[in-house]
Amino acid sequence: MQIIHDFKMRIKDYCNNSMDNDYPVLTDCPVCHDVLIKNGFYKRYVIVSNLSYIIFIRRYRCKHCGLTVSILPSFLLPHFQRSLKDIFNIIYQYLKNRRLLIYRRAVFFYVKRFNKNLNALIIYFRETANGHPCFDNKKAIKLLEMIKECKVPTFAKSFHNHFNKCFMAL
Ligand SMILES: [Zn+2]
Repeated sequence: MQIIHDFKMRIKDYCNNSMDNDYPVLTDCPVCHDVLIKNGFYKRYVIVSNLSYIIFIRRYRCKHCGLTVSILPSFLLPHFQRSLKDIFNIIYQYLKNRRLLIYRRAVFFYVKRFNKNLNALIIYFRETANGHPCFDNKKAIKLLEMIKECKVPTFAKSFHNHFNKCFMAL
C-alpha cells in the first residue's frame, strides 16, 4: 500500500537528503490495526525534465499481517518514474496546444491514461469541495485546468485518498 505524503520540499532537496527526510511516523496498520514497524527503504528513480534522480522511499511493515506501507512523496505518482509536475505539463501542453514536450509515444501514453480516468476525475470534482457543476465538450482541458487551480500535487494526493488509486491509474 502506498501513502502519499507532502514533504513540502523540492525533488532535488528530497533527493539530497537521501534517507534523512522528515518521514511521517506511522504506528497503526491500516488493515488490521496492529503495530507497524520501520522496514527500511527502497530506491526509486524520478525523472525531472530529462534528469534522473535516485531517491529513497520509507517503508513500514505490519508485524501481524505483513502489509507493507510506503510513503510516496507527493511530487510522484504511484508506478510512474516521471515527476507528477512533468506528467501534468506533458498532458496539458498536448491537449491544449498540441505541443509535444517529449517523444510522441510517451505523450500519447500519458494522454491515454489521463483520458481513461476522465469519469473518475469528474466524480472527484463533484464529490469534493472543489466541485464545479458543469463541463463543456472540452472536458479534458477543463479538468486539467481545475487540477491546476487546486495545485497539482495537492490534487493528486487528495484524489488518491478519495479513490485509493492515482488519477493516472489503469
Ligand atoms: Zn496489519
